[in-house]
Amino acid sequence: MIVGATRWEVVTGDITRSATDAIVNAANNSLLGGGGVDGAIHRAAGPELLAECRTIGGCPTGEARITRGYDLPARYVIHTVGPVWNGGGRGERDLLAGCYAHSLDLARRHALRSIAFPAISTGVYAFPKDQAAGIAAAAVASALRRDPEAFDFVRFVCFDDSTTVLFEAAVRDAACDDQ
Ligand code: ADP
Repeated sequence: MIVGATRWEVVTGDITRSATDAIVNAANNSLLGGGGVDGAIHRAAGPELLAECRTIGGCPTGEARITRGYDLPARYVIHTVGPVWNGGGRGERDLLAGCYAHSLDLARRHALRSIAFPAISTGVYAFPKDQAAGIAAAAVASALRRDPEAFDFVRFVCFDDSTTVLFEAAVRDAACDDQ
């Protein structure tokens, strides 16, 4: 999919292998590591990542913070904190959209041209995957529309094929709305 000057793709895989300028971490408020994709990123980046995260002092839900990537192929990690799904009445959708929007904004302000996202909040935080896919795709499409030259490459890295199918459909819809 092409939106503006940006190539946008969905793949199944391990985000720690993405050699993009930045990968996004689905972190928790402490930024001190956890399970799932967070644990995988910290393991692959090495202990210096945790040391830098300690200097940040946490991150509110829906916002994002940037660190270096250390031993990862990615140069930077953008840590964002997705909402825990609580039925949908606690602002979860806006908070999730904020994760994508703030991550892209940070990347743009650091002149990073390529970025990979996991399916934020769809693991332990239990956000329904089909809704999460729609929100993720709409948030990215809207950022790309606002600044069509900012990125060369945006990649959604899903951990299993069923999630990839949902994100592919959502990206197609969002990119079509965008034309
Ligand atoms: P959250 O707490 O935001 O739900 P999780 O890490 O539990 O974060 O899950 C977020 C998503 O990341 C899930 O869909 C999970 O399957 C996926 N995931 C876990 N490990 C990886 C990985 N190494 N690369 C890409 N995605 C991953």
